[in-house]
Parts: sequence; C-alpha cells; structure tokens
Amino acid sequence: MWTEARIILINNRIPGGPEAILGPAGCGPDVAVLDQEGNFTTVTLDERDERLALLQTLLKERGLRCSVRRRDRFTDEELQSARLLVVEYDTNATVFAGPMMGTTYDMSDACPRCGAGARQTSAIFIDGEFLPRLEGRRAATTSHDDVLVDEKLAAALAQSGATGLSFRDVFAAFEERGFRIPWRQLCAAHTMPPMSPRSTGIEVSEPCPCGRSCFGGKEEIPFRLAYRAADLADIHDVNVTWEWYGIAGFTGDLSASVLPYPLFLVTPKVRRIFQAAGVTGFDWIPIRVVDG
Ligand SMILES: [Zn+2]
Repeated sequence: MWTEARIILINNRIPGGPEAILGPAGCGPDVAVLDQEGNFTTVTLDERDERLALLQTLLKERGLRCSVRRRDRFTDEELQSARLLVVEYDTNATVFAGPMMGTTYDMSDACPRCGAGARQTSAIFIDGEFLPRLEGRRAATTSHDDVLVDEKLAAALAQSGATGLSFRDVFAAFEERGFRIPWRQLCAAHTMPPMSPRSTGIEVSEPCPCGRSCFGGKEEIPFRLAYRAADLADIHDVNVTWEWYGIAGFTGDLSASVLPYPLFLVTPKVRRIFQAAGVTGFDWIPIRVVDG
C-alpha cells in the first residue's frame, strides 16, 4: 500500500503560470497533468516524495492556499487478501435515485430527524434522465450508493453462492410513468457494528443526535475504515455500514427528501466476479482490522 497525495493547481492564480513552480519543484509531465481546457494542473505524488513538501513551500511563499487530497492505493494482492472492501464508484457516473423518484421506504425504525435506518420496501426507481449513464456499463451505483448490476452479472453473483445477498428490480422513472430495465439492485442483509474510533479520514458534519448519520470524507487525511476483529464475526459477502453517509435531507415527506445512506462492503470474492465481468469505474478500499 502507498498513499497518493494530490494537489490541484488553478493555473491562472499562479504568478508566471504553473510552470513557475512546477519547474523548481521538479514536477514534470509524469506527475503534473494539465486538464483539457488548460484551467487546472493536477499533481499526483507519493506522499513520501520530497517534491510534495517543496511544492507546498513554493505555493505558500506565493500566498496560495493549497489542499492536499490523500488516498491509499493498493496492490492486487492486498485487495485479494482483504477481509472486506469498501465499494467506491466514479461519482460522475452515478444515477440519481431514492425516495424523490418513487422508491418507498419503511421509516418505522429510522431516525425521525435525518432518516438514517430507512428500510427500502420497493423496487429501486432511478431518474430516467440518467439512463444514458448505464449504457455500455455492467455495474454502477446511485447517488445513494445503491449498487446496480445488469441481469447477467446479477445471475453470475446469484450462482456464485455469495452470501447475505438479495436482489430488487430497477425501474427508470419518467414524469408520466416508469418502466422496468434489465438491471438489478444488490441488497445486503447484514449491517456491520459501528466502526472502530481508529478509523480515519471520516468526519461528521452537523451531527444528528442519533449519531448515525452525516458522515463524510475528510480529504486531507486518507479514508481508512477500521473494525475490530470481533466486528467481523458475522460478515457476509455483501454488507452495509452502521454509519450513514452523505446529505441528510429528511423532511418528514419522503417524496421531497434526500436520505443519507450506508456504505456497501464486499468480500474479494464479489470483486473478482465484477472483474471477470469486465466492470470498470469502481475502486475498492480494504477495511483495516485493529485492536480497540
Ligand atoms: Zn438522525
């Protein structure tokens, strides 16, 4: 494992242009990439690379604010031997879903303030406008981190004997009506115990008194979800976290609410099935097993 550090430079804010600092910092095109429009330069370095500190110093000297986004990177071997993997998906390719589109939820055990603990009771409805995002893909996620797979991949998962897994239908919702599409939602029966306090890179914005929602990423610190060994006693091939992430916009009226959502955790077995299907756009982050 190594930790990647990423700095995004806004080119026109740098006196003399980005080259004025990239050159002295020794950052060539192998680590500094200009976006298509030429507005931003993304510098990606190993956190231990001395050029990172040099770049930060050069930016500071010019009075430029810079935040460093850190992210762990893993070898295939490390991913294969992980107990569980957090499923991450390209946020630019998610499809909008949730209660506003017509998906129904049982709120009897949910927090009345934030909606954490909502239990889905219907097929999942995605916004029909987002259907093109599924084209050419075999798996995707929704804005609420629900995992969707095409019917062939769903069949492969069912045949694999993966545990703790069930499926729901997927509907595309349009103003007039909705129709079923040849995709399935993966549903996890098992909820993990609360994470270990030794997890890092997770912050709580405007915490709800229930303590279960409003979790989100803190980008300067790498996201590391930790559990104690005993927390893993009942894991299945698919699981969800006890904590709910994202925006909590429960208004009391589901059709006008954005619910928070748990993260989806799978075993390397599920990742292998996704990989065999040629699925792209996913990132897999091993959980950490810690004492306490
Ligand atoms: Zn709450």
